[in-house]
Amino acid sequence: TGSMDAGDFAAWIRSTAGRVSADAERLTRLDAAIGDGDHGLNLDRGFRAAVEALPEDAPPGKVLIVAGRAIVSKTGGASGPLYGTVLRRAGKSFGDAAGVDAAALGAALRAALEGVQDLGKAAEGDKTMVDALAPAVAAYEAALADGSDLAGCARAAAEAASKGADGTVPMRARKGRASYLGERSEGHMDPGASSTALVLEALADTAGE
Ligand code: ADP
Ligand code: MG
Ligand code: MG
Repeated sequence: TGSMDAGDFAAWIRSTAGRVSADAERLTRLDAAIGDGDHGLNLDRGFRAAVEALPEDAPPGKVLIVAGRAIVSKTGGASGPLYGTVLRRAGKSFGDAAGVDAAALGAALRAALEGVQDLGKAAEGDKTMVDALAPAVAAYEAALADGSDLAGCARAAAEAASKGADGTVPMRARKGRASYLGERSEGHMDPGASSTALVLEALADTAGE
């Protein structure tokens, strides 16, 4: 697949909502270990709201901006503003283009990562969603430079995000609620990194269809 249109981005949001809902208990269990046990619930509520808000006859950028706004307004906790920023920054970077090619999607993912880091001030290694998103963006860009098409780049990003989430297990949290636990945060996967892997998995599956 060489490009994605508004329908594809709406399909991605729906697919993400379905996965989040199916995985909400697992995400909440991860958050119960090192946070306050609401991550699955927060995201389930947020992505349901995003699906309900999806506009008709709008370009990809608008689809993501509207979805991101809905997530911010309906999702409690740290993750609402962070995921809202991901979608709004990505959407903004598309402008009003009707089609998004591999390079444009890569630029959007890079913009989303920058937005998350502007807002949350987390670096790689702090045991947050940045530990899934940053390697995903890097892998996407590397695949693009190697000449992969959009679906191939998205698959590389999803695989890197999943590895990145696994890599948070031994880390000590330095941002978010988990940081209150200090060394007791070690030995558990970061819930936000895990959900980020799921979001990118949904993107790769949608792009590959
Ligand atoms: P809360 O911790 O407020 O209850 P959630 O449980 O929904 O919110 O989300 C927790 C996740 O948010 C963490 O696992 C982490 O990945 C992410 N997170 C928290 N703080 C930050 C931050 N400053 N930067 C990036 N991600 C963060
Ligand atoms: Mg929480
Ligand atoms: Mg909370």
